[in-house]
Amino acid sequence: MSATTEVLDLSAFDQHAGNAGEPAPPTGRQVAVVGAGVAGMACAIRLALLGNGVVLYEARSRERMLETPPADLSERESFERMVAQGRIRCEYGRKLGLNLALADLHLWHDAVFLGVGLASSRVLALSGSAPAGLFDAGQRVAAVQALDDLLALPVPQRAIVIGASRGAVGMAARLKQLGAQDVTLALRHALAPDGREEEVARACFVRVRGWVAPLEVLRDERGAVETVRFEQTRMLGGRVVDTGGFTEIAAHAVFKAVGRAAGPELDPLVPGQSREGDRIEVDGRFRTALPGIYAGGDCVAPRLEATQARRHGLQAAQAIHADLLA
Ligand SMILES: Cc1cc2nc3c(=O)[nH]c(=O)nc-3n(C[C@H](O)[C@H](O)[C@H](O)COP(=O)(O)OP(=O)(O)OC[C@H]3O[C@@H](n4cnc5c(N)ncnc54)[C@H](O)[C@@H]3O)c2cc1C
Repeated sequence: MSATTEVLDLSAFDQHAGNAGEPAPPTGRQVAVVGAGVAGMACAIRLALLGNGVVLYEARSRERMLETPPADLSERESFERMVAQGRIRCEYGRKLGLNLALADLHLWHDAVFLGVGLASSRVLALSGSAPAGLFDAGQRVAAVQALDDLLALPVPQRAIVIGASRGAVGMAARLKQLGAQDVTLALRHALAPDGREEEVARACFVRVRGWVAPLEVLRDERGAVETVRFEQTRMLGGRVVDTGGFTEIAAHAVFKAVGRAAGPELDPLVPGQSREGDRIEVDGRFRTALPGIYAGGDCVAPRLEATQARRHGLQAAQAIHADLLA
């Protein structure tokens, strides 16, 4: 799945309503757009022109945002016109993961577009991308909360990284460097005692906890991660097997770094997880693994040019609009 697969044809739509055109009649739908960067701005304007109500949530203050010269002056003018007409409502100083929760946005709006740029995908990079196909509709709220956990800023005080790869060790070390006080690397077997990974973990004061397999994440009454429950493992006949003993490790966040090839037997918390590096994973219509949540711009494909990020925003808006009216 890739956002770079440009499956949406905008040409017919552009004739009907470009960003300077007259807005379509109201659809009665409301979409949250997070991030007033290139992708978010384009998405918000286009959604509003299509007749949808838009609430734009931006981490910066309005003053800070206006200090940044617009990539496209006419787009900034369209945006201000939409705001004046009440078609776009702006909430500044609202930072997803800090004073804004994805689960709430999901409840308040018919759809959510994430255009948070590189800043948050850096955090997502620590935790792996949103796992495609992991959650079914019945687990929707849990899934949204899981993505909130991934976006949560600042760095959690107590974290668990699950995995034994070099990437997992690097992730644990980076969490420590970013200020996490207590980071545990949990793995089903032991790290090679004289290997480079062990050296890095020790140098960064990462606690290594071998011979445990994750079973479930326990949450407090507010849904925040509290503890991870593990089954103890051991080696038997050259294979790692469960012992039937259990243990729990307290944590504010859990980062899974079990790699693309990992199946349920390696990581029971994330059956079928796929991981594609430092970005939110989306399909060709900018849909994340979570129903009703879309993403585009640098947070799905880092180091885009501004024109590409803008196109993401426009295409995502069209996809969201089509899905809402389907
Ligand atoms: C140094 C530099 C130079 C560049 N030069 C060029 C160039 O010359 N030409 C070119 O075409 N491209 C250039 N680019 C690339 C271009 O800037 C990006 O493609 C484009 O900005 C990506 O748009 P975006 O909307 O995805 O992210 P951004 O434009 O980064 O917007 C993200 C928005 O989300 C907000 N945000 C972030 N986190 C949160 C959160 N948790 N909650 C709420 N809001 C949040 C941010 O405040 C920001 O407003 C450059 C990029 C960089 C870093």
